[in-house]
Amino acid sequence: MDFINIASGSKGNCTLVSTKNTTLMIDDGINIRTLSERVRLANIDLKKVSALLITHEHSDHVKGIANFLSKYSIPVYCHSRSRCGLDAKVLPYVEDTDMDKEFEIGDIIIKPFRLPHDSNYNLGYRLSDGKRNVSIATDLGCMNDAIFANIQGSDLVMLESNHDVQMLKNGSYPFALKQRILGNNGHLSNDVCADTVLKLTKTGTKHFVLAHLSQDNNTPELAFECTEKTLDKANVKEGVDAYVDIALQYRTMQKIHLD
Ligand SMILES: [Zn+2]
Ligand SMILES: [Zn+2]
Repeated sequence: MDFINIASGSKGNCTLVSTKNTTLMIDDGINIRTLSERVRLANIDLKKVSALLITHEHSDHVKGIANFLSKYSIPVYCHSRSRCGLDAKVLPYVEDTDMDKEFEIGDIIIKPFRLPHDSNYNLGYRLSDGKRNVSIATDLGCMNDAIFANIQGSDLVMLESNHDVQMLKNGSYPFALKQRILGNNGHLSNDVCADTVLKLTKTGTKHFVLAHLSQDNNTPELAFECTEKTLDKANVKEGVDAYVDIALQYRTMQKIHLD
């Protein structure tokens, strides 16, 4: 299985997971020109994308979809409660699938699971080719046992590491927005992400991609250090026992290949 994040953050998200025969795009919140340029640099052919999975209807996850579909006509999967937030041009492509259950596209088994967030609905995805598992969980206000049960044991987990709590509290955001982000339906902090990463290493997860970093209340260095230090305190060495990558807004990450 291959994993690559094309863009991550509040200005647009897009991730690709592929096997030999199937490529899934998870969210498309970037414009088609940027997307085409970035996949070209990563040596990926957009014609190979088999389907699009939407996590939720916030614009940073869906605003590129209508234009993408006008060029590449592929099925779209999202929770029924997210549909009303989609562009009318996208709706004819939405499959009528029960997103509370596991289903298959090509040779990838998809297990959607609910994430707490202030959208109509928000989904995380666990994707499996029968051998390897990749889990994606961004835009979640908190971690809980049900979410953890869905992502544990994955070979790779892309997990939100949105903000440094002190930076957010001391920053210039209005009080209501700070409360929204810090709330149980907001975004995951570096600390909660780091604690979850440590717990996941005990279930066998080796690859981590920290994602959806705030540009105002976080830095890639802070997010990385927070997780690295938490692992280090528990004697889990980054680069040896676990590999931590950062998904960025303005740069596509290196593809991760899981044998
Ligand atoms: Zn988002
Ligand atoms: Zn969101």
